[in-house]
Amino acid sequence: MSDTHVEIATIASNLRAVRARIDDSCRAVGRNSADITLIAVGKFHPAASCRAAIAAGQSDFGENRVQEAAVKWPALRSEFPEIRLHLIGPLQTNKVKEAVSLFDVIQSIDRPKLAVAVAEQMAKQGRRPACLIQVNTGEEDQKAGIAPAEADGFIAQCRDGLGLPILGLMCIPPADEPPSLHFALLREIARRNQLSALSMGMSADYEDAIRFGATHVRVGTAIFGARPAPA
Ligand SMILES: *Cc1c(COP(=O)(O)O)cnc(C)c1O
Repeated sequence: MSDTHVEIATIASNLRAVRARIDDSCRAVGRNSADITLIAVGKFHPAASCRAAIAAGQSDFGENRVQEAAVKWPALRSEFPEIRLHLIGPLQTNKVKEAVSLFDVIQSIDRPKLAVAVAEQMAKQGRRPACLIQVNTGEEDQKAGIAPAEADGFIAQCRDGLGLPILGLMCIPPADEPPSLHFALLREIARRNQLSALSMGMSADYEDAIRFGATHVRVGTAIFGARPAPA
């Protein structure tokens, strides 16, 4: 772990650099950086790295596996109750119960069966994490997300049919295409459905995403360094 574990001081300075670039990107397009939520993606990194980010003032964190979050976060969360935890990875229906109890935001609502299961668990637990709908803007077979053509209907089903607290949309553009078209498509789907949150942009392209209206950027490598191999 020592070669991949980035030191505490490095994480703090990386965070400062990312926040400064967010400020610059906002200034360039006349946006207010207070409207951007920086989500530090700690997947595969140890709890100690997340703790270092918390010490540097970071409050929103993203994990892409329920299992990993369930090991890493309960202790940190009881110590730092102001933390907001975002699920940004695919959610299997058999993990919905745990996800609803563990996360404050679920960004990967991507199919009717999952939406129904999440609504049921919210009713059971009396807990209502905010939800984002993941859109597969590149229509990639291997990627999660509702197809763009089905997005309007699915949004209506989630929001009006199931009463889910849908804040907005999330996407992960194809790795081999310029992300801007995908950011613009996500923004357009959100606009016509009157949704305000846009979770888009990662280490390589969060500045672009801000130009296209991102309200949530999900940054891992630029904060924590290269990811260790998954456990
Ligand atoms: C891992 C991950 C990120 C962060 O990626 P970096 O390139 O390390 O910033 C963002 N979003 C999702 C959905 C991820 O799985």
